[in-house]
Amino acid sequence: MATALERYDPQIYELIRQEKARQSACIRLIPSENYVSRAVMEASGSCLTNKYAEGYPGKRYYEGQQVTDLIEKIARERATKLFKADYANVQPYSGSIANWAAYLALAKPGDTIMGLSLPYGGHLTHGWKVNVTSKIFNSVQYTIDPKTGRLDYNQIEDLAKKHKPKIIISGATAYPRQIDFEIFGQIAKKVGACHVSDIAHIAGLVVAGIHKSPVPYADIVSTTTHKTLRGPRGGMLLCKAEHAANVDKSVFPGLQGGPHMHTVTAIAVAMAEANTPEFVAYAKQIVKNAKALAEKLLEFGFNLSSGGTDNHLILIDLQNKKISGKKLAKALDRAKIVANYNTTPLDPAHPADPSGIRMGTPAITSRGMKEEQAKQIAILINKVAENIDNESVIEEVGKEVLLLSSQFPVPEHFIIPNRNNPEPLDALTY
Ligand SMILES: *Cc1c(COP(=O)(O)O)cnc(C)c1O
Repeated sequence: MATALERYDPQIYELIRQEKARQSACIRLIPSENYVSRAVMEASGSCLTNKYAEGYPGKRYYEGQQVTDLIEKIARERATKLFKADYANVQPYSGSIANWAAYLALAKPGDTIMGLSLPYGGHLTHGWKVNVTSKIFNSVQYTIDPKTGRLDYNQIEDLAKKHKPKIIISGATAYPRQIDFEIFGQIAKKVGACHVSDIAHIAGLVVAGIHKSPVPYADIVSTTTHKTLRGPRGGMLLCKAEHAANVDKSVFPGLQGGPHMHTVTAIAVAMAEANTPEFVAYAKQIVKNAKALAEKLLEFGFNLSSGGTDNHLILIDLQNKKISGKKLAKALDRAKIVANYNTTPLDPAHPADPSGIRMGTPAITSRGMKEEQAKQIAILINKVAENIDNESVIEEVGKEVLLLSSQFPVPEHFIIPNRNNPEPLDALTY
């Protein structure tokens, strides 16, 4: 039986089929990507996409909120419980908008914000020069110590004392080590700043207790819901009770109109999934896999920024290999190993063609891969790097990838064992 989409729009149906096949065939190492469960996918593709719900539960600007109010309350309650926060706003459309909402809840245009510089691993919205955050606010950027590849808290404190920012942002998009949110909180206190912590990448590790949580040390915590947290594409803010009203106002009506209720619904499901022992096992395995990948790459003489990893990602500095990040990323893509080129802290090259490549293990871990497969992947990466101009070897690696992928079916079909019904449909075993 053809689906409605197949009958109505065969062209788009076919493209979705191709993307599904790509996600199934490839080893996906982009650290911000993942595979959501079937339950999250179902909620995300549900009739909640039809509903306008401007406002908040109990205070909406449209009628017909009998169900949406209940769903949003459940999503908020699950999120606050999971993150041990006082309050959660689950409406931000994305991590970028969540950051905006956090800044505007605590500061005014023209105030100084201080975040990690993008080429050193910070996010665009942490005040990078091409992002509008640097135009609306006065942006001061801290960096990474290029010798250690790690945050230098003394440098951050000195900068904070000098510039007296209104907001200090902790968190990163390409940093392979633990971040000490407690120190960030102390520095912010010393200079009278607010502390916004952006855990978009590591939220899944935080709720599993593998990375220290910033919740006790930050005024507002911002996150995406779709990276290691493995929910639908969206954003979320967690905060202390004193900031709740400001956070809500800042998201709506400050920045957004109607919340994407299908996403809020899927966030509720993802929060339930993240509150299971299976999720904790998955999060632990992500880090084990990243460490195994790092170890094997080091054996092959790859240089890793900071020498390794504590979390879900690694940054390879390719300068000694005499290959550009872009060239390797493109060759790997032809071999069905998908990563992204990235700047590294010591990078002399232009950001459009940097010397680094960024890889992470959330997606392969969601497929059930373990250390053995992570090491196997390192061997394949090395094979491509050593034969960067040899298309037949690259093609051969692509075939090896297909073989490996076929042993770990795409978890579009996985369901975290049902919370109410102990019979798992076809659970992934970690
Ligand atoms: C991914 C990311 C974001 C932005 O999320 P979008 O949903 O893509 O807008 C913000 N901050 C950090 C640290 C990120 O890694």
